[in-house]
Amino acid sequence: MSAMVEVRGVHKTFGTHEVLHGIDLTVHAGTVTVILGPSGSGKSTLLRAINHLEKVDRGLISVDGDFIGYRRVGNRLHELSERHILRQRANIGFVFQNFNLFPHLTALENVVEAPISALRRPRAQAHEHGRQLLERVGLADKADAYPRQLSGGQQQRVAIARALALEPKLVLFDEPTSALDPELVGEVLDVIATLARSGTTMIVVTHEIGFAREIADTIVFLDEGRVVEQGPPEQVLDDPRHERTRAFLSKVL
Ligand code: ADP
Ligand code: MG
Repeated sequence: MSAMVEVRGVHKTFGTHEVLHGIDLTVHAGTVTVILGPSGSGKSTLLRAINHLEKVDRGLISVDGDFIGYRRVGNRLHELSERHILRQRANIGFVFQNFNLFPHLTALENVVEAPISALRRPRAQAHEHGRQLLERVGLADKADAYPRQLSGGQQQRVAIARALALEPKLVLFDEPTSALDPELVGEVLDVIATLARSGTTMIVVTHEIGFAREIADTIVFLDEGRVVEQGPPEQVLDDPRHERTRAFLSKVL
């Protein structure tokens, strides 16, 4: 198995508060990693660091062999320019808790915005691919709807289609259902589960334990900026080794 993501010794401090205390994590290509952990444990910061939305203070992250934020010249690392960082980021899809759709663009326009403006894909080709993606998330009939005309679950499915539009090597989900009304959670989890089964490499932060068990190859339990334990779902969920994992699971299950 080859590593799609390698996180090595990553530290991140906000002010005087060290939020990530030396994170190591490997995600193999074609696998699904679910990150569990209490609020404030550093889950979002870790995902954001992988996507270079946060710069880390120490340590390195690579995605498909490229160091995030750096390029290697001989055995030295040089910081990437903003333009190169944007290009690197195009390899990584990100689905946010609050959808983050452009309110003034239709569903289809949201999906094709990055391919057209960032990658200069021909409009007709981008639109055709965008329609296919909307169909894949069950929203073929909503291409011309604006976000305000869609339910939260539909908006999040548009956001997933948008995250896939650049054909990323990796997709990150940060609590994709926690802003949704309970009756809308299932449709979004179904889309993510289908994507997981198609072999997309993904890292998912969620509090939906049943869903985590269903889709995860590996579950990582993060607490206070440290990986406390990781392993297959049946081990971490049914036979956790650490007291802190047990305490967390007893609250969310
Ligand atoms: P989680 O996603 O697990 O709830 P976060 O990664 O969002 O945790 O946050 C971890 C800690 O870092 C929290 O204490 C949070 O308040 C703090 N934090 C996150 N982002 C910032 C920021 N931009 N500035 C200052 N503190 C932050
Ligand atoms: Mg978070």
